Amino acid sequence: MANIRASSTARTGLDTTVADAPPAIVFDRVGVVYGRGRKAAWALVDFNLRVAAGETVALLGPSGSGKSTALNALAGFVRPSTGAVRLAGRDVTDLSPARRGIGVVLQSYALFPHMRVADNVAFGLTSHRVPRGEIASRVTEALDMVGMSHFGTRLPRELSGGQQQRVAIARALAIRPRVLLLDEPLAALDAQLRQSMLTELQRLKESLPDTAMLYVTHDQGEALALADRIVVMNDARLMDVGTAKDLWARPPTSFTAAFLGGANLVPCTVGRVIGTSALVSVAHQTLGAEAPQPAVGKVDWAPGSAALLCIRPHTIKVVGLGDRDALRARVNASVWRGASTRLVVSVHGLPDQLLDVDVPGAATYAVGTEIGLRFPEPAGVLVATT
Ligand code: ADP
Ligand code: MG
Repeated sequence: MANIRASSTARTGLDTTVADAPPAIVFDRVGVVYGRGRKAAWALVDFNLRVAAGETVALLGPSGSGKSTALNALAGFVRPSTGAVRLAGRDVTDLSPARRGIGVVLQSYALFPHMRVADNVAFGLTSHRVPRGEIASRVTEALDMVGMSHFGTRLPRELSGGQQQRVAIARALAIRPRVLLLDEPLAALDAQLRQSMLTELQRLKESLPDTAMLYVTHDQGEALALADRIVVMNDARLMDVGTAKDLWARPPTSFTAAFLGGANLVPCTVGRVIGTSALVSVAHQTLGAEAPQPAVGKVDWAPGSAALLCIRPHTIKVVGLGDRDALRARVNASVWRGASTRLVVSVHGLPDQLLDVDVPGAATYAVGTEIGLRFPEPAGVLVATT
């Protein structure tokens, strides 16, 4: 035993007890079916994910894509039809929710309306066998973490929505969970409050360096602000997983390209490829493109093959019609968004393709105006068509 430990430590340079620790969260081929017989529908299919202690992973996807189902399968609110969920190496698939030791925060807060804030937060501590004498200090500690220590004697209805959500978070934290699950915790708040709660959640995350967090949201801004890694969900499946930066810079699928950050996906034909640079043709024009190294098992960028060129709206410049290399375009719509204006344009020579272009400030282009466009160099990144 001692020998194995010594050699393993030498190999990794890490304490083996840390290096070999099982992930805080494991989804192992989890599938969930709702309903029976002809009404049976898979809400989650072959879902695999590992989350390390201290890591925050966002499940990001449109409504109905299976995010809450995945979270509920881990929390124990939904029984997986296939596969298993493990916490710190222990299979908890058959364990009741209360015995999993997970902190859960839901969009609806789910506070007990007749119980005062402190009692709401204390709920769960007794079932987690926290000694009676310790409960008051644990409640204070949890309320402190969310800045609500002065509200212990209030009833939930005497609090604003944001304050109620803080209490719900405090209640989840009171059991000092190793795993914290949050399902659209900010979705019921107005935009300004959402922004300040997001900043507080970032701070909370910093103060819980050993806690694994799974954060369900349909809002990419929340995922970008909080997550170490993002899981993009679509249609009951995990589409892509990676750091926000990687998914944004090199989207593995057109779905992720469009869902994360918004993208123009222009059909193109791949020409010459050298390393990670390619030339592509779009509407008889040759453009430079970034050609990311394909992941193992994925298609290569073969010359002559069809692909999508992902061009981010803010990288396209509006130039004079007479400028060299200017593409001729026509403004179809113009929407001011405060810091920028979103133009929707049709480009001469690109039939059936509307492009989104974001120009800084309040740009005033009447619908029908002809403008020049210039793509950046490289114009964008290649994304596989399927
Ligand atoms: P998301 O959280 O991404 O919006 P959900 O996981 O809640 O998605 O839902 C995934 C799919 O499963 C949806 O089609 C939804 O209608 C369905 N669904 C969710 N919960 C139930 C349920 N309790 N019974 C039947 N169908 C459900
Ligand atoms: Mg949901």
